[in-house]
Formats: sequence, C-alpha cells, structure tokens
Amino acid sequence: VPNGTNLCPNHSLATLKVQRPPRLNSTNIVSSLETLGLDGYFSFENNHHAAKDFGNMYHFLPSAVLHPKSVPDISNTIRHIYEMGSASELTVAARGHGHSTQGQAQAHQGVVINMESLQRLEMQVHIGKTPYVDVSGGELWINILHETLKHGLAPKSWTDYLHLTVGGTLSNAGISGQAFQHGPQISNVYQLEVVTGKGEVVTCSEKKNTDLFYGVLGGLGQFGIITRARISLGPAPKMVKWIRVLYSDFSTFTKDQEQLISSENSFDYIEGFIIINRTGLLNNWRSSFRPKDPAQANQFSSDGRTLYCLEVVKHFNPDDTKTVNQSIENLLSKLSYIPSTLFLSEVSYVEFLDRVHVSEKKLQAKGLWEIPHPWLNFFVPKSRISDFAEEIFGNILTDTSNGPILIYPVNQSKWNNKTSLVTPDEDVFYLVAFLTSAMPSSTGTDGLAHILNQNKRILDFCATAELGIKQYLPHYNTQEEWQAHFGPHWKVFVQRKSAYDPLAILAPGQRIYRKAT
Ligand code: FAD
Repeated sequence: VPNGTNLCPNHSLATLKVQRPPRLNSTNIVSSLETLGLDGYFSFENNHHAAKDFGNMYHFLPSAVLHPKSVPDISNTIRHIYEMGSASELTVAARGHGHSTQGQAQAHQGVVINMESLQRLEMQVHIGKTPYVDVSGGELWINILHETLKHGLAPKSWTDYLHLTVGGTLSNAGISGQAFQHGPQISNVYQLEVVTGKGEVVTCSEKKNTDLFYGVLGGLGQFGIITRARISLGPAPKMVKWIRVLYSDFSTFTKDQEQLISSENSFDYIEGFIIINRTGLLNNWRSSFRPKDPAQANQFSSDGRTLYCLEVVKHFNPDDTKTVNQSIENLLSKLSYIPSTLFLSEVSYVEFLDRVHVSEKKLQAKGLWEIPHPWLNFFVPKSRISDFAEEIFGNILTDTSNGPILIYPVNQSKWNNKTSLVTPDEDVFYLVAFLTSAMPSSTGTDGLAHILNQNKRILDFCATAELGIKQYLPHYNTQEEWQAHFGPHWKVFVQRKSAYDPLAILAPGQRIYRKAT
C-alpha cells in the first residue's frame, strides 16, 4: 500500500471544513461512479495494466479506470469524488503512457484516468510569428512531431524518447539535449487547461491564473490534471548530422561540454554518456555511424576502461550541407576528444528524435523491455560534478553498468524557477541519469537486489558528501525527505496543494500526501 503520510499537519488538508458523512464501503463508491453520465466509460474489472508501469517494481490495483472521451468526463469524476469529501478514500491518478518507474501514475483502490483516451481531441497547429500547437494532455510527443512537421514546424525541446504523453512529461520537466538552449519542455509551454482536485476546469498561462500554471509545470500531478497544452513551436530541420566522440579524462570531457553549452551558434543538441568496460564499442557503433578515420578507429580498445562519450547533433537542410559541415568542423576543432574516436552519421530529423524507439523494438523482441527498471536521475551542480564522478565512477560503478548512464550540463538561465520543479542553485548543472535494467530472476550483479543496493550507495554518498544534488523524477517515502527535496520551495508547494487539491485526491502514487479522511 502506498506509504504516504499527510505531510503538513498544520495545513488545510487536515483543517478543511467538511462535515463527516457516513463512510461509504467500496461497493457503494463504485456504484456511485456508475451513476455519472459520461461521454466515455469506466472499467471496473481487468484493470491490471493500470497497476503496471515501466519500472515494473510497483503494482497497485485501482478500483476503476476511467476512459474519458471529454474534459467534462474528467471534471465530473473529480468533482463527484471531491464532493464525497472524507466519506471516501478514493484518490485519482492521471495515467499518461505509464512510463514512470515507481508507481507514480498508480492509485491503490482509487481511480486511474487513462489520459490517452483523450488523445482524439484534435491537434491544432497555429502558424505565424509565434507558432504553437494545441494538444490534449494525453497526446504522445511522437504524434505531435508528425502533425507539426506537416507545417514545417516542431516543438523545440524534447525528451530522448517520444512515446510519452504531454501531461506526463510536463508534470516532471521533459529534458533532452536541446535543454541547454531552449530549457526543458516546461519552459516551452504557453498555456494549459487543467482540471483541479476540486473538479474545476481552469485555463492558465503566464498571465492568467499564473500560480496554477507554474504550479502544474513540474508539479508531479499534485495540483491538477492537464487536459490541454499549448506548446511553442519552431522551424523544423529536415536532417541532422549526428556525432559521437570519446574522452578518457572526465574533466576534459566536462570542460568541452560546458564550453559547448555556453557558445553562440553551438550544436543543436548536446548530451553525453559514460561507458564502463565495454568490449568492441566502436565496432558496435559502425552499424549506424561511420568513423572519420577507419584505420585508427580499428586500433582503439574500450575494454576495461571507463570512457566518456560526447554526443552532439547539428540540424541542417539538404541545400545547406556545405555551411553545416564548416560549422561542425569549426566547433569540433575547439574540442579535445581522442581523435581516432570521431564517428558521424546523417539521418532525418524524425529518425534522430525517435531513436530510442528503435532500441525499444529490439529489446521488446528479446523480452528485455518489460523488466524492472530501477532508474535514478539527478541534477548535480557544476561545482560538484567531479566529486560526484570520482566516487560514483571511481568506486561504486567500476566494472560494469546495467544500462546507459547519461551525463550532460544545462544552463539554469533557460529554466523558470517559478515552476514547481526544483534544481540546484547554480548557473550550470548536470543531468545524470542511471537508466538501469534488472534481469528478473538474477541474483548476480545484474539482479534487482544488487542494483537497488548500488542505488542506495549512490544516494547515501550524495547525502553524506552534501553535493547539493536534486533528484529528477524524484521518489521519496517520508515527510522529511520531500521537505528536504523542495527546500525553501516547500512552503509554496503546500500552499498550492491546499488551494488546488485540498483533499489530496490527485496523484497519490507520488507519495507526497495521503488523502485526508
Ligand atoms: P505517467 O508515467 O503516466 O505519469 C507520470 C506522472 O504524471 C504521474 O504522477 C501521473 O499521475 C502524472 N500525470 C500523467 N498525465 C498527467 C496529466 N495529463 N496531468 C497531470 N498529471 C499527469 N524524461 C525526461 O525528462 N527526458 C528523457 O529523455 C526521458 N526519457 C525517458 C525514456 C524512457 C524509455 C522512459 C520510460 C522515461 C523517460 N523519461 C524521460 C521520463 C518520463 O518523462 C517520465 O517518466 C514521464 O512521467 C513519463 O510520461 P508518461 O506519459 O508515461 O507519464
């Protein structure tokens, strides 16, 4: 059972003046939902898919799943539950694509709203000086890409994987290699339509209902359900040059990354990842990349080593190949990577953005997609990234990693500190993502128990070394931990909860609040 606690005893979660009606048993609650006149429908049985997520570690079965066909379906359901007040323990979780890793989109014996049913609300692209697209909160980013490309446009900021919903990523941040330049996805939204925890439908933006707008962005689903979003667009390129180079020295690697994210006319995407003791690494790359110097690349061995890969992309259209090549040469000439490890590729913009889906299909074919994913994501301040790396890659993860480890810096100036997301308080900080997979029945180093233990060592080190890190896609169990996570922003978080979801109905799987009963 989700082990949430009412985290703010002095706050209106507890003090809301609701007369205590007699408690309803679960059969009464279920039948009361059935009386709602909806455009969509509830399912009360065979809801096991709603008790699953990408993490494959938490399984909380809901009492009902709502498949909404309209925004009133969502608002009427929430208002109904809100009006039952403390007579019911029902909570509500919006479920996007269910790609959380720790049950965040689940609701134990509550109602899960299958947001993808709302996808059918038409996408509307507005061209002009400030182009944007209006989409449903349950829309997948891959569909938005295809729709906006019809107009030569595309969102500016992405995640590495596009089979996620707008509501799901905007409740966190939505970060990829474009974030250094455009900020995360939550910095690229003009307007939202939100159903609050009282069932009210509110349109909000930077100018209108501002507090709710910023609260919901990065708000872990705590203040409302995003039913519609207006996403900023820019011109879309047709093609990208996709480049990888290796470093053996961590500080040279990060120095180059930091220089690139602070340069004018830099690459359009800047990421990086760590490679620990991989055999035949460059050979594996050859299926999709070509080495600049094949003979030298043949000589290079990655066995037994920890290496740092810089991954960058430059957009281009077929008629400006010459200019883009010059610009890439110029950018690369300022970097200090190992020369024999320069690998290049040229693919369509869609192929690049949808790259993780290719790996997904391969892993699915091998039965390796639906396995436990004990992921850990951090924001690490630039001033402590070398301390972080020294301990984690020098002492904890020395022989192997059980999945990709991403590491790249972003500029704080592109993030808006009015949103609910918390980041380290430095001009530059790193996203570090341990995207680990665990072999279901293994008791070895690739088993869940071993990886969870490793995660604990990483978390313990970050805490004792006082690195000033923040978890991204955070996961905590106690009041103290959530308060520490939000730090000075906790007060505002609590105020927003009491204003927009005073009964703590929404997103119980985040385990920040427990419904007041
Ligand atoms: P869900 O898991 O369904 O929901 C997540 C949370 O948001 C839940 O608390 C849920 O209740 C709430 N929620 C869902 N929909 C709504 C809504 N409409 N309104 C309000 N609340 C809502 N993240 C990055 O930033 N960058 C990446 O590159 C990246 N890559 C990823 C790759 C993979 C393979 C996976 C599995 C995840 C990745 N993520 C990445 C993390 C991802 O952004 C989050 O897990 C996100 O929440 C998943 O979206 P979803 O639609 O599956 O949301």
